[in-house]
Amino acid sequence: MRATLMYGAGDVRVETIADPSIQKPTDAIVRIVRSCVCGSDLHPYHGLPEQEQGMQVGHEFLGVVEQTGADVATVKAGDLVVASFSYQDNTCEFCRVGVQTACAHPEFGFFSAAQAELIRVPLADGTLYKLPTGVDTALLPSLLTLADVYGTGYHAAKMAKVSAGDTVAVVGDGAVGLLAVLSAKQLGAERIILMGRHKVRTDLGIEFGATDVVAERGEDGIAKVVELTRGGAHKVLEAVGHRPAYDQAVGIVRGGGVISRVGVPQYEEAPVGFASLFGRNITLNGGPAPVRAYIDELLPSVLDGTVNPGKVFDRTVSLDEVPAAYQAMDHREVLKALIQF
Ligand SMILES: [Zn+2]
Repeated sequence: MRATLMYGAGDVRVETIADPSIQKPTDAIVRIVRSCVCGSDLHPYHGLPEQEQGMQVGHEFLGVVEQTGADVATVKAGDLVVASFSYQDNTCEFCRVGVQTACAHPEFGFFSAAQAELIRVPLADGTLYKLPTGVDTALLPSLLTLADVYGTGYHAAKMAKVSAGDTVAVVGDGAVGLLAVLSAKQLGAERIILMGRHKVRTDLGIEFGATDVVAERGEDGIAKVVELTRGGAHKVLEAVGHRPAYDQAVGIVRGGGVISRVGVPQYEEAPVGFASLFGRNITLNGGPAPVRAYIDELLPSVLDGTVNPGKVFDRTVSLDEVPAAYQAMDHREVLKALIQF
């Protein structure tokens, strides 16, 4: 099969490698119909040390089941499925309370081979979700967002307990930030301040429900949000992952409020003491989204067209064009690239 491999920072290639095969009776093989490049794929794109053997990448996909192991019961060959970006049993005590990304199953893990024609799916019953549409639907881009970015934006809003009347600030105008805006709106937020500097993106944020856009960063950005909200936002959804975004969140959250992080932290140390969080009773929350838990909740509005999260895809590429898609996303010419097979 053809697959995307990363050989080091800035070095993405599409090559022919061996097809994946069933290794355990709980596995399935899926032929990928749509995949995409994630903002978090840009972290290794910037920092991966040179690799002798290329490393497969990609964690978002939907496709058609090609083959199932003997123990797989919920999907069969020919089914159109979307996968969560983590694979889990969906039955253990952690999965049952909706923290699938803390699954206790020894095979639990995160996909890293989805920018390819075929993929092996461990724990297929707990990971694949059979979609009630055909492969010919125009909804495929929106359905694909259930694999990660929509569920992750929704997780940010859920972990912040966004509810009716809240003032919410979203740090970051990437796909997750924009879908955190959409999610906050769905959960009843009254005012949604989007912090971002790219007009095309913040315009989509306004379409998704943002009421204000703050382009300033750092101290200026903090001052602006504090002024707009007369003291800070009740809930801050941080969808970037770099340390300045954390500092921004601490600066704009209101006393007694919540910071919910879904950007993968690229730092280990940050202030949590009296001056930052403790003194103002700030809750720090968030983590990798258990998106499998949210599909049931989010799917109906996608199917009936109430929401169109697939609008975050602003370029469609073939598998061979994936290296160029990384470059375009890195240069911020593209928000999120959809890979069509
Ligand atoms: Zn589990």
